[in-house]
Amino acid sequence: MNNKKLALPLLPYSYNALEPVISQKIMELHHDKHHAAYVNAGNIALEKLEKIRLGEMEGNLREVMRDFSFNYNGALLHSLFWQMMRPAQENNAPDEKVRQAIDENFGSFDNFKKEFSGAATSVEGSGWAVLWKDKEGRLMAGQLEKHNLLGLNDMVPILVLDVWEHAYYLDYLNDKASYVEKWWQVVNWDYVRHIMGEVGQMV
Ligand code: MN
Repeated sequence: MNNKKLALPLLPYSYNALEPVISQKIMELHHDKHHAAYVNAGNIALEKLEKIRLGEMEGNLREVMRDFSFNYNGALLHSLFWQMMRPAQENNAPDEKVRQAIDENFGSFDNFKKEFSGAATSVEGSGWAVLWKDKEGRLMAGQLEKHNLLGLNDMVPILVLDVWEHAYYLDYLNDKASYVEKWWQVVNWDYVRHIMGEVGQMV
């Protein structure tokens, strides 16, 4: 038995809810095709692992585990990504508690925004910008290449930004920096606050 089977969650808003920052077309493709593909492939890899374990098939464990890591993490990151966005707001900003945690770890919100945006625009190839938190409440900004490389093993993601081309190219072409800059308008800081509280100390 293994309980890590994946499911494709519904979006917590309509496909056009994030316009004009992210178009309906991108959201439809991104959720219904890309995210769905990670869910399906992750579950296929999981089934293969179980069959290999039971001696029902032979397989290359290194290859299957690699597939599982890529697709499982891809599916989880997308589930998180949908939750941490909401319709665009002017001057969108975190509340006092989140801002205080960011100030303690980065010096100021502007420092954090600059570092996180820099992480997003400089990912090599396909990947994510991530804000992580550890059990002691320490925060770090960084990158994931693909969905699963460069992570920090004692930290969990609490804010993620998809900078794969499929996340922005239809709307922004090669202007990734504009996508990243506009994305700050749709960050759901209430959700970030919520999961900050679930991970380690309350903030
Ligand atoms: Mn994506």
